Amino acid sequence: MKGNFGFSLCLFAPLRENSLAKTQRRKGNAKTMYWEERWHPLREEWVIVAAHRQNRPWSGETIEHNEEPLPEYVADCYLCPGNVRVSGARNDNYTSTFVFDNDHPCVGFDAPQTLQEPPGIYRNRPATGIARVVCYSPNHSLALAELEPEAIENLLGVWQEQYLALSALDEIKHVLIFENKGEAVGVSNPHPHCQIYATNFVFKTIENEARAGQRHFAETGRLLFQDVIRAEKEDGRRIICENESAIAFTPYFARYAYEVFVAPKATHASLATLADEERRDFAALLKQVLVKFDNLWQMPFPYVMPLHQAPTDGGDYSGFHFHIEFHPPLRRPNLLKYLAGPEIGGGNFLSDTAPEEKAAELRAQSDVHYKQVSNHG
Ligand SMILES: [Zn+2]
Ligand SMILES: [Zn+2]
Repeated sequence: MKGNFGFSLCLFAPLRENSLAKTQRRKGNAKTMYWEERWHPLREEWVIVAAHRQNRPWSGETIEHNEEPLPEYVADCYLCPGNVRVSGARNDNYTSTFVFDNDHPCVGFDAPQTLQEPPGIYRNRPATGIARVVCYSPNHSLALAELEPEAIENLLGVWQEQYLALSALDEIKHVLIFENKGEAVGVSNPHPHCQIYATNFVFKTIENEARAGQRHFAETGRLLFQDVIRAEKEDGRRIICENESAIAFTPYFARYAYEVFVAPKATHASLATLADEERRDFAALLKQVLVKFDNLWQMPFPYVMPLHQAPTDGGDYSGFHFHIEFHPPLRRPNLLKYLAGPEIGGGNFLSDTAPEEKAAELRAQSDVHYKQVSNHG
């Protein structure tokens, strides 16, 4: 007994010290140094945070916003209502959203089924699947950030339908819904739209997230993404906004300066099972994040926005937690994050900025879109 008592005392002392140190760190002295490696539990890889290298904090600079306002309809836009696309197909005269099969699909059931066998260890297979485009609005000029919350809610409904319909097909192992936004990520047509790749394989990042979650559950009996949300709430510095059933935060392990995750608080393997109130909350929070992005530099904020949902290959993914990730390529209004030696060469990200500081910048932004402010003023 005596020995046991002594042992637990020994354990207790350092634990107390740790939590004290933690509290002090959280209260924060002004000169926090961010120079460390952070574990990305979903990708299971290290992120190097070397924020000490960038000594000048963002000073509030914005881009000169003198671009012409976009028209609501463009005659040669292949996404505007009633227009003819390259395939010869004509778009519906749609009034809310519009879904069609991509005219230049990267995967399709028309892809060659008989392939030349490669030599040695090499392998190939047919590029089977379905690629679709979803137009958010008939209005050419209206970005996702500017859609009314009800329209975003309606769009989430369309994503739910698409996920359910596509995942029901035997050949489809995963449904990746994503939006590429802005010229910085190679999109020249501003008409608001996203893409869907329903594929005969599970995308690598999803496979990693699913495996990491399963391993975490086997080891701890807890859901990985719930542990991430719990840690974010405990710290609090990286939360951008939240409501009753949804939360948005820049993760502790962010790889991009302004990376943001938007997630329902309850675990859903896909957005298909969100209840109506959860969908409404999620739409409201998504809108809030998008508006803050645009307000940051008073410009349309470029990003890659994937929906991370469970594979649909028949496995048990009940612990998978649906979320949206924003990967914005810009570090400053005119400064791209270049993927170079560490990222392309080595496969791990090097971040020059502290997620805590970038989250604070986003959190401080207004929830009223700057274009609305200037329209009224
Ligand atoms: Zn258009
Ligand atoms: Zn993810």
